[in-house]
Amino acid sequence: MSHITMTVSEVHALAKDTLMKFGADDENASAVADVITMAEQDGCHSHGLMRLAGYAATLKSGKVNGKARPTVTQLAPAVVQVNGHNCFAPMALKEGREHLIKAAKTCGVAIMPLIGIHHFAALWTEVEPVAEAGLAAFACTSYKPAVIPAGGTKALYGTNPIAFGWPRSGRPPMVFDQASSVMARGEVMLAAREGHELPKGVGVDSDGNPSTDPNEVLKGALLAFGGHKGSSIAMMVELLAGAMTGESFSFEAAARDNGDGGPPQGGEFMMAIDPSLVRGDDDWADHAEKFFDKIKEQDGTRLPGERRHRNRAASATQGVEVSQIVLDKVQAL
Ligand code: NDP
Repeated sequence: MSHITMTVSEVHALAKDTLMKFGADDENASAVADVITMAEQDGCHSHGLMRLAGYAATLKSGKVNGKARPTVTQLAPAVVQVNGHNCFAPMALKEGREHLIKAAKTCGVAIMPLIGIHHFAALWTEVEPVAEAGLAAFACTSYKPAVIPAGGTKALYGTNPIAFGWPRSGRPPMVFDQASSVMARGEVMLAAREGHELPKGVGVDSDGNPSTDPNEVLKGALLAFGGHKGSSIAMMVELLAGAMTGESFSFEAAARDNGDGGPPQGGEFMMAIDPSLVRGDDDWADHAEKFFDKIKEQDGTRLPGERRHRNRAASATQGVEVSQIVLDKVQAL
């Protein structure tokens, strides 16, 4: 499959211009272009330019307001609610982030429920800046039904990613970010676009039969990772991002979605914790480093996020490899 090399700023400009062409204003287009660019430069192509068609479709159908101005409400000293008023999630996160950080540094822990947003992005783009501010960070969001509850036959849970970030002094934070499904739907879409088979055990077709054909799995459903254990994590995400924030469960989001191919309206739950306030001193950083060293003593290990940071450094000098198929699709927009 052929690729085109683009600079990071060319990726950003392409994303931003496309979003503005479909009606987003400068601020909203920039917020989304930022996360698309971060995904491309870190080698997370399933959440990069490949998503532009979905973002554009949603602006075109009017489901998302590309000129929205999210509002922030302090519901309690440690609860900062962001209402996106139908914006894409990156815009609401940009608006709320500093409020969350400030509340966590005051209270030790703070929660940011996000409502009225449309989430289509990789969660690490959200926890990493909070961890860079010296806080441990957790985020999760639901989607539309795509994953079967353990023992069931019909998709009910979203692919429901969770991300956790741990701050490190003088180095990028440790961040892991993973879907509750065996494979993220974006990766299945990428396999379908590029004509790859899926590994066994990723999903089932629309009749509930195991399938390795990504197109059949996109019509059917995914399986949760780790059987009933991943299934419970997906359930937890539904509760935190839905019932806890006052937004929808995945099945409710799907029921009112217009099916335009873009992200449905849903909620997100985000939490930040100040380790210095929880522990009462600043020794947590060195203590954690000893633990990370222990992990890395073992051959074959690495910390989550290290692949991305290697890619980020390479992209800054060598540019980003963008799939020709994805670029053709963006240009066709
Ligand atoms: P992966 O399985 O690719 O990776 C999950 C995590 O594991 C990453 O943090 C990765 O770090 C880490 N990792 C991978 N291999 C190793 C290893 N050998 N040792 C240590 N750590 C490792 O992610 P998923 O496919 O589950 O998810 C992809 C993306 O999809 C996520 O960004 C998620 O937020 C997004 N998503 C978004 C949804 C939405 O509705 N908005 C829905 C579902 C998913 P590294 O990056 O460094 O490889």
